[in-house]
Amino acid sequence: MKIRSFCLAASLALAAALPAHAQDKVLNLYSARHYQTDEALYANFTKATGIRINRVDADDAGILARLKSEGAASPADVILLVDAARLWRAETDGLFQPVRSAVLEQRIPAHLRGADAGQGSQWFGLSTRGRVIVYNKASVNKDDADTYEELGDPKNKGKVCTRSGSHPYNLSLFGAVMQHLGEAATEAWLKGVVANMARAPKGGDTDQIKAVASGECQIAITNTYYLARMMRSSNPDDRAVVEKVGVVFPNQQTWGTHVNIAGAAVARHSPNRDAARQFLEYLASDSAQAYFADGNNEWPAVASVKTANPALAALGSFKAETIPVSVTGSNQVKVQQILDRVGYK
Ligand code: FE
Repeated sequence: MKIRSFCLAASLALAAALPAHAQDKVLNLYSARHYQTDEALYANFTKATGIRINRVDADDAGILARLKSEGAASPADVILLVDAARLWRAETDGLFQPVRSAVLEQRIPAHLRGADAGQGSQWFGLSTRGRVIVYNKASVNKDDADTYEELGDPKNKGKVCTRSGSHPYNLSLFGAVMQHLGEAATEAWLKGVVANMARAPKGGDTDQIKAVASGECQIAITNTYYLARMMRSSNPDDRAVVEKVGVVFPNQQTWGTHVNIAGAAVARHSPNRDAARQFLEYLASDSAQAYFADGNNEWPAVASVKTANPALAALGSFKAETIPVSVTGSNQVKVQQILDRVGYK
């Protein structure tokens, strides 16, 4: 865990030298997103507001563990996490506080926000990614792999590979499927997926794309930004991989492709609540939205902001599911129990 752009000695010196109101202009950001382009995003916020950002970088699990161990003494103001499964987990663990903001409620669609028990949402989606199917163009007919349901169809026996079923990206997808199909049908489906596996789950999404290209398996699931990253890669090997795989936005005739988010929340014990809300509102602005989404080849959460990302343009438009992304999180406990029963590692 690293603390960027923050030096304790320097901040103490500043505290002694500056009047009280100037000392207050700081925001502690715990971020699971680490992209170089985000630096400019944060610098622009400081330029516009005078609020300095101290960034703590860690992975999602590290941030949640740190928040828990810091408890009420935590200096965290804003938390940035990827995937609704993790946001839901943090919300459930009481690590966030609700935020009431007319700006955020007007700009971020309701289905991309956390629960609102009357005092505002617990978290806000800032960018979206689809969870799509990739297939080997030489060996698979697109029609045999254009729905999530077909991943569990016996016709695809021995063809499917995935990362761990318990990874948040899959927990969220399976939680969405449960919302659409119900619990019993989801269990039968996941049993079918396990029966269709070409090999035991391993690796990340990019590894699944490569396994499809190499023929180790024929059909896999990936978040769109991993594909987009390879499509834009300067490495010819990456582009050769992309050449071999077809991409499907699943379930276009039914409930639409599963969409997840990267999102932000105000920490439960935030010492700088107003600055934290201001920062979330800034991240929902037109310029920040375009920048934030593009930093990881994602779509902006604010519908009126259009992406200029060439890889996303090449992937084309699609029908996305419209269920609240929060239910994909709240279904994850039941999903994990199913995974254990069907032997999905
Ligand atoms: Fe990822």
